[in-house]
Amino acid sequence: MTPSIEINGRSYARPKVTAIAICLDGCEPEYLDVAIAEGLMPTLARLREEGTSRLAHSVIPSFTNPNNMSIATGRPPAVHGICGNFLYEPETGEEVMMNDPRFLRVGTIFKGMQEAGCKIAIVTAKDKLRALLAKDLAIDGTAICFSSERSDTTTEAEHGIDNAAGWLGQPVPEVYSAELSEMVFAAGVKLLAEFKPDVMYLTTTDWVQHKYAPHDAEAKAFYAMFDTYLAQLDAAGAAIVVTADHGMKPKHYADGSPQVVYIQDLMDEWLGEAAARVILPITDPYVVHHGALGGFATAYLPDGADVADIVAKLRAIDGIDVVLDKAEACARYELPEDRIGDIVIISTENMTVGTSEHRHDLAALNEPLRSHGGLSEQTVPFIVNRALPDLAAAPDLRNFDAFHIATMAAAL
Ligand SMILES: [Zn+2]
Repeated sequence: MTPSIEINGRSYARPKVTAIAICLDGCEPEYLDVAIAEGLMPTLARLREEGTSRLAHSVIPSFTNPNNMSIATGRPPAVHGICGNFLYEPETGEEVMMNDPRFLRVGTIFKGMQEAGCKIAIVTAKDKLRALLAKDLAIDGTAICFSSERSDTTTEAEHGIDNAAGWLGQPVPEVYSAELSEMVFAAGVKLLAEFKPDVMYLTTTDWVQHKYAPHDAEAKAFYAMFDTYLAQLDAAGAAIVVTADHGMKPKHYADGSPQVVYIQDLMDEWLGEAAARVILPITDPYVVHHGALGGFATAYLPDGADVADIVAKLRAIDGIDVVLDKAEACARYELPEDRIGDIVIISTENMTVGTSEHRHDLAALNEPLRSHGGLSEQTVPFIVNRALPDLAAAPDLRNFDAFHIATMAAAL
């Protein structure tokens, strides 16, 4: 019998080979379909045949941090608490980044596996995720966790490795680049060979996917590049799950201008100037490529507001997919009630939700808007480099099953 390790109420097998989960940020399944059809991903094409290829669901909101932390904990946001990049605290009236590890309510799979005697390696493209992913990991020679973005300033004491960029023999890439993600893969290959972790997590950035559609040359080049690293990880014998935090959809008119419903403007009209507070949890310091426009918003309403009336009015708007009050939204999408406003608003496939028109810097959008956050970006790939008949037949697969499946495959 395979000994199992209990973490956050789920069981994980003790890997015999390295268990790897790769989160391809913003990897709408179509990117892989197009790249494979054009012969640009021979390794992934083979793994789809020989291994197990499924589609899975991301958590809602289909944003980066909630999904990365779901993959890292194996549980939905109602359990781990990270439901956006951003949090509004009604008591203080302040908007706070949710990057701080204090917002994470449960231990990670990495911590649990380390306590069970496993070696851990984590590489993230952007540094904003690093502290969350590394929470409570003992940096004692059995764990390495760093970001491409800050790879030239890593230390043995804090990240488990001195000057990771120097160790890789690469300069630090631009934060807005495909190379920031490529460094994640290159580090993964080198860590697998030299550090030999039992569990490894590689998570990229969706800069390419926000900018380029599946048929664009830059997107194809990105996936062809990924395939060369995937080939090396696979050849080394690791058990690998390739999934994504969310998909990506075009959100613009034919002339390239973004499609937006400005929710704060509507609320101001209905309830009075600034009476309601609309929060876009996609917001973060890296907004250049999406103008802070995504498919999910939450709103705090003033005392005495007629919630049912507001919900009904919003539902009647073209481009609005789902509007729910807090209780319904938290039940349906497994969200933490104390970090969600009075209502939740989700836009349709080609629409986004904004706050007030004047608050979005759309001049910074150089390409037609592509974004995510709603139900239309919830479908993600889930590909394992092992034939797993039970998984092939499993009903509702979630991206946050990645380490459960990867460790199971690594224990076979
Ligand atoms: Zn993302």
